[in-house]
Amino acid sequence: MIIAGYNPNSCVDYPTNIAAVIFLANCPLRCVYCHNRHMLDGDFTPISYESVLERIEKNKRFLDGVVITGGEPTLTPIDELKKLIQDIKAFGLLVKLDTCGSNPKALEELIPLVDYVAMDIKAPLEKYHIITPVTDKLMENISKSIEFVKGAKDYEFRTTLDPHLTIKDIEAIAKMLKGAKKYYIQQFVATDFYKPKSYSSDYLKWCVEVANNYLPAFSRGV
Ligand code: SF4
Repeated sequence: MIIAGYNPNSCVDYPTNIAAVIFLANCPLRCVYCHNRHMLDGDFTPISYESVLERIEKNKRFLDGVVITGGEPTLTPIDELKKLIQDIKAFGLLVKLDTCGSNPKALEELIPLVDYVAMDIKAPLEKYHIITPVTDKLMENISKSIEFVKGAKDYEFRTTLDPHLTIKDIEAIAKMLKGAKKYYIQQFVATDFYKPKSYSSDYLKWCVEVANNYLPAFSRGV
């Protein structure tokens, strides 16, 4: 397991909970707006498993849970992930898993072990290439993962409102996810190397309104 980063205390990464966040390195996607690219390119100082566990234990009375994110956590060997989840649970904390859905096989095994899953939906499936290079296999995996995530105890799907997506695209995603528990539409935030102008808060709220015709939809970051 390569731990690329650790945030001891976040109010925004686990809905309604205060959580520590563990960032695992590597990701099979290369989203145009990725804020963690340094973690994918190996441009970080790894943190040891023991020191992260020690810090979580020390702070556990101030925490509700721990978010395992990335990168893409499910690229980490499954036995190591299971141990991490088990070790966090032993502190009496909740576990949230973030994923892009690239590894449905691992997800299927991990979903029953965690309390919350958040899966990114980058675009309507036929438009993923706008956000990240994709292959047919990857898209097949993402479709499978969507179905597995719908079986989780608690979960959300979420889309970053990249300015190259339109309200029609958001509607297409919402239609595809119809019947799912929660759908968050997140405001796009520019990076140093990708700076298109984000949509207004009003446009984002309009997207949420349209998505709400198909499933419970919410805004984030506005
Ligand atoms: S899935 Fe997440 S970590 Fe991977 S490239 Fe996209 S934004 Fe970055």
